[in-house]
Amino acid sequence: MRALCWMGAGELAVRQLPDPELRNAHDAIVRVRRSAACAADLALLAGRGPAVGEVLGHEFVGEVVEVGPEVRRHRAGDRVVVCSSVSCGSCWYCRRELHSCCDNGSTDPAAGEAAWGHPVAGCFGQPRSQGGFAGSHAEYVRVPYADVGAFAVPEPVSDDRALFASDAAPAGWMGADLGGVRPGDVVAVWGAGAVGQVAARAARLLGAERVVVVDRHPDRLRAAERHAGAETLDYRRVDVAAELRERSGGRGPDVCVDAVGTPAATRSLGDRLTGAAPRPVAVREAVHACRKGGSVVVLGAHPGVVDTFPLGAVTAKGLTIRGARQHGPRYIPMLLDRMARDELRTEYLATHHLPLDRAPEAYT
Ligand SMILES: [Zn+2]
Ligand SMILES: [Zn+2]
Repeated sequence: MRALCWMGAGELAVRQLPDPELRNAHDAIVRVRRSAACAADLALLAGRGPAVGEVLGHEFVGEVVEVGPEVRRHRAGDRVVVCSSVSCGSCWYCRRELHSCCDNGSTDPAAGEAAWGHPVAGCFGQPRSQGGFAGSHAEYVRVPYADVGAFAVPEPVSDDRALFASDAAPAGWMGADLGGVRPGDVVAVWGAGAVGQVAARAARLLGAERVVVVDRHPDRLRAAERHAGAETLDYRRVDVAAELRERSGGRGPDVCVDAVGTPAATRSLGDRLTGAAPRPVAVREAVHACRKGGSVVVLGAHPGVVDTFPLGAVTAKGLTIRGARQHGPRYIPMLLDRMARDELRTEYLATHHLPLDRAPEAYT
Protein backbone atom coordinates (compact mmCIF):
# COMPACT_ATOMS: atom_id res chain seq x y z
CA MET A 1 0.00 0.00 0.00
CA ARG A 2 0.97 3.68 -0.25
CA ALA A 3 1.44 5.75 2.91
CA LEU A 4 2.74 9.17 3.96
CA CYS A 5 5.97 8.58 5.87
CA TRP A 6 8.20 10.75 8.01
CA MET A 7 11.66 10.67 6.42
CA GLY A 8 13.56 13.18 8.57
CA ALA A 9 13.00 16.64 10.08
CA GLY A 10 10.65 18.51 7.75
CA GLU A 11 10.75 15.72 5.18
CA LEU A 12 7.76 13.65 4.09
CA ALA A 13 7.35 11.14 1.29
CA VAL A 14 4.63 8.85 -0.03
CA ARG A 15 6.14 5.37 0.02
CA GLN A 16 5.14 1.84 -0.79
CA LEU A 17 4.77 -0.29 2.37
CA PRO A 18 3.47 -3.80 3.06
CA ASP A 19 -0.30 -3.91 3.70
CA PRO A 20 -1.09 -4.18 7.43
CA GLU A 21 -2.32 -7.57 8.67
CA LEU A 22 -4.47 -8.71 11.58
CA ARG A 23 -2.22 -9.38 14.56
CA ASN A 24 -4.69 -9.89 17.37
CA ALA A 25 -8.17 -11.36 17.58
CA HIS A 26 -9.74 -7.96 18.30
CA ASP A 27 -8.06 -6.14 15.36
CA ALA A 28 -9.75 -4.84 12.24
CA ILE A 29 -8.19 -3.67 8.98
CA VAL A 30 -9.74 -0.45 7.68
CA ARG A 31 -9.40 0.95 4.16
CA VAL A 32 -9.04 4.71 4.64
CA ARG A 33 -11.53 7.01 2.89
CA ARG A 34 -10.53 10.30 4.59
CA SER A 35 -7.62 11.14 6.91
CA ALA A 36 -7.22 14.63 8.40
CA ALA A 37 -4.08 16.67 8.93
CA CYS A 38 -3.80 17.90 12.52
CA ALA A 39 -1.66 20.48 14.32
CA ALA A 40 -0.28 17.60 16.39
CA ASP A 41 1.41 16.31 13.22
CA LEU A 42 3.43 19.50 12.95
CA ALA A 43 5.43 18.77 16.10
CA LEU A 44 6.29 15.36 14.64
CA LEU A 45 7.15 16.87 11.30
CA ALA A 46 9.65 19.15 13.00
CA GLY A 47 11.48 16.02 14.09
CA ARG A 48 10.42 15.12 17.61
CA GLY A 49 10.58 11.40 17.84
CA PRO A 50 9.49 9.49 14.74
CA ALA A 51 11.74 6.84 13.27
CA VAL A 52 12.39 7.08 9.53
CA GLY A 53 9.51 5.51 7.62
CA GLU A 54 6.83 5.87 10.33
CA VAL A 55 3.36 6.67 8.98
CA LEU A 56 1.63 9.90 10.08
CA GLY A 57 -2.08 10.64 10.54
CA HIS A 58 -4.49 9.81 13.37
CA GLU A 59 -7.97 11.11 12.43
CA PHE A 60 -9.75 8.92 9.91
CA VAL A 61 -12.89 7.43 8.50
CA GLY A 62 -12.89 4.33 6.34
CA GLU A 63 -14.36 0.98 5.43
CA VAL A 64 -13.75 -2.23 7.35
CA VAL A 65 -12.19 -4.83 5.06
CA GLU A 66 -11.27 -7.57 7.54
CA VAL A 67 -11.92 -8.35 11.21
CA GLY A 68 -10.32 -10.66 13.76
CA PRO A 69 -12.35 -13.53 15.28
CA GLU A 70 -13.17 -11.61 18.48
CA VAL A 71 -14.55 -8.48 16.79
CA ARG A 72 -18.32 -8.45 17.43
CA ARG A 73 -19.55 -5.01 16.43
CA HIS A 74 -18.09 -4.69 12.93
CA ARG A 75 -17.78 -6.65 9.75
CA ALA A 76 -16.33 -6.16 6.30
CA GLY A 77 -18.11 -3.40 4.41
CA ASP A 78 -19.02 -1.27 7.45
CA ARG A 79 -18.24 2.44 7.17
CA VAL A 80 -16.56 3.47 10.42
CA VAL A 81 -14.92 6.44 12.07
CA VAL A 82 -12.00 5.46 14.30
CA CYS A 83 -11.06 7.21 17.53
CA SER A 84 -7.56 8.67 17.18
CA SER A 85 -6.44 7.28 20.54
CA VAL A 86 -6.17 3.55 21.19
CA SER A 87 -7.73 2.10 24.34
CA CYS A 88 -8.59 -1.44 25.45
CA GLY A 89 -12.12 -0.91 26.75
CA SER A 90 -11.68 -3.24 29.71
CA CYS A 91 -9.02 -1.91 32.11
CA TRP A 92 -9.85 -0.02 35.33
CA TYR A 93 -9.70 3.33 33.49
CA CYS A 94 -11.65 2.32 30.40
CA ARG A 95 -14.43 0.87 32.57
CA ARG A 96 -14.76 4.37 34.08
CA GLU A 97 -14.81 5.97 30.61
CA LEU A 98 -11.37 7.51 31.10
CA HIS A 99 -10.21 6.03 27.82
CA SER A 100 -7.25 8.35 27.25
CA CYS A 101 -5.82 7.01 30.53
CA CYS A 102 -6.01 3.38 29.32
CA ASP A 103 -3.42 1.05 30.86
CA ASN A 104 -3.20 -1.18 27.77
CA GLY A 105 -3.37 1.13 24.74
CA SER A 106 0.27 2.08 24.38
CA THR A 107 2.99 0.28 22.44
CA ASP A 108 5.53 1.64 24.92
CA PRO A 109 4.10 1.94 28.45
CA ALA A 110 7.58 2.58 29.89
CA ALA A 111 7.80 5.83 27.87
CA GLY A 112 4.52 7.01 29.42
CA GLU A 113 5.72 6.10 32.89
CA ALA A 114 8.92 8.05 32.39
CA ALA A 115 7.17 11.11 30.96
CA TRP A 116 3.97 11.27 33.03
CA GLY A 117 4.34 8.84 35.92
CA HIS A 118 1.86 6.41 34.32
CA PRO A 119 1.34 4.90 30.88
CA VAL A 120 -1.48 6.53 28.90
CA ALA A 121 -3.48 5.47 25.84
CA GLY A 122 -1.71 5.07 22.51
CA CYS A 123 -2.53 7.00 19.35
CA PHE A 124 -2.38 6.36 15.63
CA GLY A 125 0.28 8.22 13.68
CA GLN A 126 2.52 8.79 16.68
CA PRO A 127 6.02 7.34 16.97
CA ARG A 128 6.13 3.79 18.35
CA SER A 129 8.69 5.06 20.84
CA GLN A 130 5.91 7.27 22.27
CA GLY A 131 3.28 4.57 22.43
CA GLY A 132 1.86 5.09 18.96
CA PHE A 133 0.58 2.92 16.11
CA ALA A 134 1.08 3.21 12.34
CA GLY A 135 -0.94 6.19 11.12
CA SER A 136 -3.88 6.78 8.82
CA HIS A 137 -2.33 8.80 5.98
CA ALA A 138 -2.25 5.45 4.22
CA GLU A 139 -4.48 3.20 2.16
CA TYR A 140 -5.01 0.75 5.04
CA VAL A 141 -4.70 0.86 8.83
CA ARG A 142 -4.68 -1.89 11.44
CA VAL A 143 -7.14 -0.88 14.18
CA PRO A 144 -6.48 -2.63 17.52
CA TYR A 145 -9.45 -3.12 19.91
CA ALA A 146 -11.78 -2.42 16.97
CA ASP A 147 -14.93 -2.91 19.05
CA VAL A 148 -13.77 -0.11 21.37
CA GLY A 149 -12.32 2.46 18.97
CA ALA A 150 -14.28 2.08 15.71
CA PHE A 151 -17.85 3.34 15.34
CA ALA A 152 -20.35 2.74 12.54
CA VAL A 153 -21.16 5.99 10.76
CA PRO A 154 -24.92 6.60 10.41
CA GLU A 155 -26.06 6.66 6.78
CA PRO A 156 -26.84 10.39 6.45
CA VAL A 157 -23.48 11.53 7.85
CA SER A 158 -20.93 12.30 5.12
CA ASP A 159 -17.30 11.18 5.31
CA ASP A 160 -16.17 14.79 5.68
CA ARG A 161 -18.47 15.31 8.65
CA ALA A 162 -17.80 11.96 10.34
CA LEU A 163 -14.04 12.40 9.98
CA PHE A 164 -14.00 14.93 12.81
CA ALA A 165 -15.67 12.50 15.23
CA SER A 166 -12.25 10.82 15.29
CA ASP A 167 -10.44 13.48 17.29
CA ALA A 168 -11.36 17.18 17.09
CA ALA A 169 -15.05 16.76 17.92
CA PRO A 170 -14.67 14.54 21.01
CA ALA A 171 -11.77 16.69 22.22
CA GLY A 172 -13.73 19.90 21.77
CA TRP A 173 -16.92 18.50 23.25
CA MET A 174 -14.97 17.24 26.23
CA GLY A 175 -13.78 20.83 26.84
CA ALA A 176 -17.33 22.01 27.40
CA ASP A 177 -18.25 18.85 29.29
CA LEU A 178 -15.30 18.87 31.72
CA GLY A 179 -15.83 22.60 32.21
CA GLY A 180 -19.34 21.84 33.44
CA VAL A 181 -20.93 24.38 31.07
CA ARG A 182 -24.44 25.23 32.23
CA PRO A 183 -27.28 27.22 30.68
CA GLY A 184 -26.59 30.94 30.97
CA ASP A 185 -22.81 30.57 31.29
CA VAL A 186 -20.25 32.74 29.53
CA VAL A 187 -17.58 30.53 27.98
CA ALA A 188 -14.27 31.63 26.45
CA VAL A 189 -12.29 29.40 24.11
CA TRP A 190 -8.67 30.09 23.21
CA GLY A 191 -7.84 28.75 19.75
CA ALA A 192 -10.15 28.62 16.72
CA GLY A 193 -8.70 25.45 15.20
CA ALA A 194 -10.93 22.40 14.82
CA VAL A 195 -10.93 21.56 18.56
CA GLY A 196 -11.74 25.13 19.57
CA GLN A 197 -14.52 25.37 16.98
CA VAL A 198 -16.22 22.26 18.34
CA ALA A 199 -15.67 23.35 21.97
CA ALA A 200 -17.48 26.59 21.13
CA ARG A 201 -20.32 24.80 19.36
CA ALA A 202 -20.63 22.31 22.24
CA ALA A 203 -20.83 25.14 24.77
CA ARG A 204 -23.68 26.66 22.74
CA LEU A 205 -25.50 23.34 22.51
CA LEU A 206 -25.12 22.88 26.28
CA GLY A 207 -26.86 26.22 26.81
CA ALA A 208 -24.07 28.78 27.22
CA GLU A 209 -25.48 32.26 26.76
CA ARG A 210 -22.32 33.70 25.28
CA VAL A 211 -19.32 31.95 23.79
CA VAL A 212 -16.26 34.00 22.92
CA VAL A 213 -13.48 32.54 20.76
CA VAL A 214 -9.99 34.07 20.88
CA ASP A 215 -7.58 33.68 17.95
CA ARG A 216 -5.74 35.78 15.39
CA HIS A 217 -6.70 34.15 12.08
CA PRO A 218 -9.60 36.13 10.54
CA ASP A 219 -10.90 33.15 8.51
CA ARG A 220 -11.04 30.93 11.59
CA LEU A 221 -12.72 33.64 13.63
CA ARG A 222 -15.32 34.13 10.90
CA ALA A 223 -15.94 30.37 10.86
CA ALA A 224 -16.44 30.36 14.65
CA GLU A 225 -19.05 33.10 14.29
CA ARG A 226 -20.80 31.43 11.42
CA HIS A 227 -20.71 27.75 12.39
CA ALA A 228 -20.34 27.75 16.17
CA GLY A 229 -22.53 30.75 16.98
CA ALA A 230 -19.64 32.38 18.84
CA GLU A 231 -18.49 35.95 19.32
CA THR A 232 -14.83 36.45 18.52
CA LEU A 233 -11.78 38.40 19.66
CA ASP A 234 -8.61 38.94 17.65
CA TYR A 235 -5.99 39.01 20.38
CA ARG A 236 -3.70 41.17 18.26
CA ARG A 237 -6.24 43.97 18.27
CA VAL A 238 -7.93 44.00 21.68
CA ASP A 239 -7.22 43.59 25.38
CA VAL A 240 -8.63 40.09 25.73
CA ALA A 241 -9.05 40.08 29.52
CA ALA A 242 -10.82 43.46 29.51
CA GLU A 243 -13.13 42.40 26.66
CA LEU A 244 -14.01 39.16 28.41
CA ARG A 245 -14.83 40.96 31.66
CA GLU A 246 -16.98 43.40 29.72
CA ARG A 247 -18.94 40.53 28.17
CA SER A 248 -19.48 38.65 31.44
CA GLY A 249 -20.99 41.21 33.79
CA GLY A 250 -17.55 42.32 34.98
CA ARG A 251 -16.71 38.90 36.45
CA GLY A 252 -14.85 37.03 33.72
CA PRO A 253 -15.99 33.88 31.91
CA ASP A 254 -17.45 31.00 33.95
CA VAL A 255 -15.57 28.43 31.88
CA CYS A 256 -12.31 28.96 29.97
CA VAL A 257 -11.07 26.38 27.47
CA ASP A 258 -7.50 26.14 26.18
CA ALA A 259 -7.51 24.70 22.66
CA VAL A 260 -4.09 26.11 21.81
CA GLY A 261 -1.49 24.18 23.80
CA THR A 262 2.08 25.31 24.18
CA PRO A 263 3.70 25.49 20.77
CA ALA A 264 7.47 25.07 20.88
CA ALA A 265 7.64 28.41 19.05
CA THR A 266 6.67 30.21 22.27
CA ARG A 267 10.21 29.68 23.54
CA SER A 268 12.25 32.82 23.11
CA LEU A 269 15.90 32.70 22.14
CA GLY A 270 16.72 33.60 25.76
CA ASP A 271 14.65 30.64 27.00
CA ARG A 272 16.46 28.33 24.65
CA LEU A 273 19.85 29.56 25.75
CA THR A 274 19.04 29.26 29.44
CA GLY A 275 17.13 25.99 29.01
CA ALA A 276 13.89 27.52 30.41
CA ALA A 277 10.74 25.54 29.68
CA PRO A 278 8.20 26.89 27.14
CA ARG A 279 5.44 29.21 28.39
CA PRO A 280 1.79 28.19 28.22
CA VAL A 281 0.64 31.62 27.04
CA ALA A 282 -3.02 30.76 26.37
CA VAL A 283 -3.50 28.80 29.61
CA ARG A 284 -1.92 31.63 31.55
CA GLU A 285 -4.30 34.13 29.98
CA ALA A 286 -7.25 31.81 30.66
CA VAL A 287 -6.33 31.46 34.34
CA HIS A 288 -6.10 35.23 34.70
CA ALA A 289 -9.33 35.92 32.80
CA CYS A 290 -11.49 33.23 34.41
CA ARG A 291 -13.98 34.41 37.03
CA LYS A 292 -13.38 33.49 40.67
CA GLY A 293 -14.59 29.96 41.31
CA GLY A 294 -14.69 29.22 37.57
CA SER A 295 -13.23 26.34 35.56
CA VAL A 296 -10.26 26.19 33.21
CA VAL A 297 -10.07 23.19 30.90
CA VAL A 298 -6.73 22.37 29.29
CA LEU A 299 -7.14 20.53 25.98
CA GLY A 300 -4.08 21.64 24.05
CA ALA A 301 -0.87 19.66 23.71
CA HIS A 302 1.71 20.75 26.27
CA PRO A 303 5.24 19.63 27.04
CA GLY A 304 5.85 17.80 30.31
CA VAL A 305 7.03 20.96 32.08
CA VAL A 306 6.11 24.59 31.40
CA ASP A 307 7.44 27.85 32.76
CA THR A 308 5.60 30.72 34.47
CA PHE A 309 2.33 28.96 35.24
CA PRO A 310 0.24 31.23 37.52
CA LEU A 311 -0.33 28.63 40.20
CA GLY A 312 -1.11 31.23 42.86
CA ALA A 313 -4.19 32.37 40.94
CA VAL A 314 -5.59 28.83 41.04
CA THR A 315 -5.85 28.89 44.82
CA ALA A 316 -6.44 32.62 45.25
CA LYS A 317 -9.40 32.55 42.84
CA GLY A 318 -10.65 29.09 43.80
CA LEU A 319 -10.37 27.78 40.25
CA THR A 320 -11.02 24.26 39.06
CA ILE A 321 -8.43 23.12 36.51
CA ARG A 322 -9.16 20.04 34.45
CA GLY A 323 -7.45 18.49 31.49
CA ALA A 324 -7.44 15.37 29.39
CA ARG A 325 -6.59 13.96 26.05
CA GLN A 326 -9.89 13.04 24.53
CA HIS A 327 -11.88 10.13 25.99
CA GLY A 328 -13.23 9.39 22.51
CA PRO A 329 -15.37 6.30 23.10
CA ARG A 330 -17.28 8.19 25.82
CA TYR A 331 -18.40 10.86 23.35
CA ILE A 332 -18.25 9.53 19.78
CA PRO A 333 -21.65 7.72 19.66
CA MET A 334 -23.40 10.85 20.99
CA LEU A 335 -21.49 13.05 18.53
CA LEU A 336 -22.41 10.85 15.55
CA ASP A 337 -26.01 11.03 16.68
CA ARG A 338 -25.87 14.83 16.77
CA MET A 339 -24.14 14.83 13.38
CA ALA A 340 -26.93 12.67 11.96
CA ARG A 341 -29.51 15.12 13.35
CA ASP A 342 -27.61 18.03 11.78
CA GLU A 343 -26.96 19.65 15.17
CA LEU A 344 -23.23 19.30 14.75
CA ARG A 345 -21.81 20.12 11.32
CA THR A 346 -18.08 19.70 11.04
CA GLU A 347 -17.44 19.31 7.32
CA TYR A 348 -16.49 23.01 7.06
CA LEU A 349 -13.34 22.15 9.05
CA ALA A 350 -12.06 20.26 5.99
CA THR A 351 -10.80 23.26 4.03
CA HIS A 352 -8.71 21.39 1.44
CA HIS A 353 -8.88 17.92 -0.09
CA LEU A 354 -5.82 16.18 -1.52
CA PRO A 355 -5.21 12.67 -2.84
CA LEU A 356 -2.72 10.58 -0.86
CA ASP A 357 -0.02 11.04 -3.49
CA ARG A 358 -0.07 14.79 -2.83
CA ALA A 359 -0.27 14.49 0.98
CA PRO A 360 3.15 16.14 1.61
CA GLU A 361 1.68 19.37 0.18
CA ALA A 362 -0.81 19.50 3.07
CA TYR A 363 2.11 20.25 5.38
CA THR A 364 3.87 22.93 3.34
ZN1 LIG B 1 -5.55 15.41 15.95
ZN1 LIG C 1 -8.08 0.36 28.90
